[in-house]
Amino acid sequence: MREFDYVRATDTARASVEGQGAETRFIAGGTNLLDLMKLEVMAPSKLVDISRLPLDRIEEADGGLRIGATVTNSDLAADPRIRASYPVLSRALLAGASGQLRNKATTGGNLLQRTRCPYFYDTDTPCNKRSPGEGCAAMGGETRNHAVLGTSETCIALHPSDMAVAMRALDAKVEVQGAGGETNSFAMEEFYLLPSDTPHIETILESGDLITGVHLPAPRGDRQVYRKVRDRASYAFALVSTAAVVKMEDGRIADAAVAFGGLGTMPWRDPEVDAALTGEAPSRALFDKAADLLLREAEVTDGTAFKLPLARRVLRAVLEEATA
Ligand code: SF4
Repeated sequence: MREFDYVRATDTARASVEGQGAETRFIAGGTNLLDLMKLEVMAPSKLVDISRLPLDRIEEADGGLRIGATVTNSDLAADPRIRASYPVLSRALLAGASGQLRNKATTGGNLLQRTRCPYFYDTDTPCNKRSPGEGCAAMGGETRNHAVLGTSETCIALHPSDMAVAMRALDAKVEVQGAGGETNSFAMEEFYLLPSDTPHIETILESGDLITGVHLPAPRGDRQVYRKVRDRASYAFALVSTAAVVKMEDGRIADAAVAFGGLGTMPWRDPEVDAALTGEAPSRALFDKAADLLLREAEVTDGTAFKLPLARRVLRAVLEEATA
């Protein structure tokens, strides 16, 4: 691990000022960042510790809930308001990582966790995300845990979060405080960037930008399901996961929001899938049509080809449960 300066932020507004600089990073739980620093995949010159800032509360706001950036994954999953009104989020959180990690990992950090592409972590192999322009060892390599949606010629790395998949289905907005003290909020599809030819730039965050919280609007549907398929029963990243938030009226799907993990370079949601389901009576043919739409632009490798039939089956099972 390389040497770095350490600053403990005591004031939220000041934290953004302290956090400026291309080689400066915020740290809270550190469950991903410290691993990356030990492996010298990331080598920040300065860490700004935000773990003592008053960002650890879950409050009612604008008809929904505002989750502070340093609320831990464990506390968020266990919160009675989350369990009652946003169970898809609670289940997604509990499907992620291990109990020890969830006790340390924070909401903001979970959103910003890096891919688990093994080549990204191996500094002896080329990786455009770690070193732009170097090449991509995953192309032609081992790709079982890689993406099939939103990929580019430079990177096919998967976004690993479970929490963010549920948040995407819940229309969450990420609150960001800029270095000048201004606060803006971004829908998840605005917050995350596709790899394109700059896979090292994963979000819209700029120097000094600090995630202060996430706002969940009132849930659009009371039928919420999260299902995750993985190589072992716990502590593994998703091969495919699906979060569905559905409202039923008179036997028809009045509203549907479906998001996916294990498939995309960012937590994935396709407006055409939601639109195809909305207003329709649930049926196997409808769910298959939704899967066709979801996967219409999928790009597979030998290692990821299994994900297409798996995604179909998971989507069908989730929608059958949500609409039953
Ligand atoms: Fe790096 Fe992306 Fe290629 Fe993995 S898929 S080696 S993260 S460029």
